[in-house]
Amino acid sequence: MAEPNEASRRKILVKLGRDEFLDCFQCLKCTSGCTALKLLELKPHEIMKLVRLGFVNELAASEIIWTCATCLKCVQRCPQKGSPYHVIMALRNLAVEREAKVPEAYLKAVSQILENGLSQTIQKITTRKMETFDRTSLKLPKISAPKESFQAVFFKALEEKQE
Ligand code: SF4
Ligand code: SF4
Repeated sequence: MAEPNEASRRKILVKLGRDEFLDCFQCLKCTSGCTALKLLELKPHEIMKLVRLGFVNELAASEIIWTCATCLKCVQRCPQKGSPYHVIMALRNLAVEREAKVPEAYLKAVSQILENGLSQTIQKITTRKMETFDRTSLKLPKISAPKESFQAVFFKALEEKQE
């Protein structure tokens, strides 16, 4: 059975740089505009409530935190300057620290960033006539791979996060 955990709740507060969750009054403005809600039933106001109550371990182990599309709409819509987005990112950080299963797409994004500096693969476009074009045929400049110095900084940042 799920149980509130004060130590984990504190961890999220530390990650957010706050002393307490005083800001959310459950108005649902974040949820009513959430991009992921339309697609994946993520309810930001419920996440805020559960974290505030201390059900952090359950959320950090749940796949739902990985469905946030990081669109930041909830940050803009909240009348209280609360941020479900930042709470969800703090939960993701906690999940990674605990070596929870990270969705394959995120791991792929990291290797893509190292390979070409982009979080997605370079894609072809298809026109209304169903013709496909790549960057070269559109005379777009070639995307150069990131420099070694970028990769060194990236790895250093990852290592620091794990400390
Ligand atoms: S986080 Fe903000 S927008 Fe969302 S329910 Fe709480 S007060 Fe409302
Ligand atoms: S940042 Fe995440 S939680 Fe906030 S509105 Fe966008 S998808 Fe929803």
